[in-house]
Amino acid sequence: MLQFEDSSAAATGAVLQPVGADRASAPTPEAETELRRVNVADKRVINGSTDVNQLVPFKYKWAWDKYLSACANHWMPQEIQMSRDIAMWKDPNGLTEDERRIVKRNLGFFVTADSLAANNIVLGTYRHITAPECRQYLLRQAFEEAIHTHAYQYIVESLGLNEGEIFNAYHEVSSIRAKDEFLIPFIDVLTDPAFKTGTPEADQKLLKSLIVFACLMEGLFFYVGFAQILALGRQNKMTGAAEQYQYILRDESMHCNFGIDLINTIKMENPHLWTSEFREELKELFHKGVELEYRYAEDTMPRGVLGLNAAMFKEYLRYIANRRAQQIGLDVLFEGVSNPFPWMSEMIDLKKERNFFETRVIEYQTGGALSWE
Ligand code: FE
Repeated sequence: MLQFEDSSAAATGAVLQPVGADRASAPTPEAETELRRVNVADKRVINGSTDVNQLVPFKYKWAWDKYLSACANHWMPQEIQMSRDIAMWKDPNGLTEDERRIVKRNLGFFVTADSLAANNIVLGTYRHITAPECRQYLLRQAFEEAIHTHAYQYIVESLGLNEGEIFNAYHEVSSIRAKDEFLIPFIDVLTDPAFKTGTPEADQKLLKSLIVFACLMEGLFFYVGFAQILALGRQNKMTGAAEQYQYILRDESMHCNFGIDLINTIKMENPHLWTSEFREELKELFHKGVELEYRYAEDTMPRGVLGLNAAMFKEYLRYIANRRAQQIGLDVLFEGVSNPFPWMSEMIDLKKERNFFETRVIEYQTGGALSWE
């Protein structure tokens, strides 16, 4: 094996000199082979020049670790019993009208939301990320989006809901449509076949789309819905649906955390993108996101229900938005806000012997240790 005088020279791909070799002579065939091979220091999350097919040598170990954790959390919707939910839904006294509205609006948003997420990953994000470790996680994430769409479809089918109504809610219910309309331009940027990274302007567009997606779509727009269905489960209602939402919440919090790590790594590798104008633009987007999700909360809860009301969500959404902003290095957006639903953190944390709703005897986990917060 060749030894080099300066490993950082090897790392940067500078001309390599075996120890003691005559500096004027040409590199040996072995050294030339080394030079041609993927070098860990050449890897970049965006605009990397290396071969995107070679997972190792690892540079972004955090992405690989998240891929392993995500695989360890594998679950399938049809493994969850829906018989109690079906009986409760069919019983005229099983749920109130307001509770039924929550279930239907929820499914109305989510049955298409994860499909938008899948399009964004498969047709957009994946093409522009040049770190194989991150691409590997994105492949797993894409499958999880499919599992989530499957889960919502499974609930709709089990309860015998009007499929046309639920699957068209993103066209027909204005509070849902408004969220998707906010989001779609950021997906369209990345899925445009003509879009290419490599200029500061294009790289900022990519970064902005990643931030909107991780922090506002998966990190904020899902949370009114998650809290509502999990609140039903906490009252021993629709526990099969709630159990599925709990697994989805666990997956989504990892999608969000992966997105945040991705964003922060791109920032670190490309500090010139993080201008004050760019941060101002992001702040505005965060405010818009909070406003849209709050409108959705009001629409789904015209009155107090399950001990929840829209006003509580104003606080909760501000709390989450602050957290997302801080996670990517923006200033706090709303002062003096606290978490009105501390039990939601418990829901995200599934490191328990059994799931919260006790519908399954053992924790659903196929192996590996979990850590994603
Ligand atoms: Fe997701």
